[in-house]
Amino acid sequence: MKRVEAETRICKKCLIREMAGQEKVYETIQRMIEDIPQGDRTAETERERRLNVCKQCERLLEGMCAACGCYVELRASLTAQSCPYERW
Ligand code: SF4
Repeated sequence: MKRVEAETRICKKCLIREMAGQEKVYETIQRMIEDIPQGDRTAETERERRLNVCKQCERLLEGMCAACGCYVELRASLTAQSCPYERW
């Protein structure tokens, strides 16, 4: 049986910002978030509330929502977006 290295394991409860080896992806997501016009960007407290819900969700997989395919850190940063399962 082939041994799975720690770096290649699927993280079911991680956001991109928490995953080792995903720094470049996180930087890209951060840049995209910074480019969101202020009026369309979710307030920090609400964004963190949304992300905490995602972290408890069985559909979070390697920072992505298995329901919609979005990086949840980006989706949660857009005021007009919502959880496809209405959890936030
Ligand atoms: S957006 Fe909704 S369905 Fe997707 S991971 Fe977050 S809480 Fe779960």
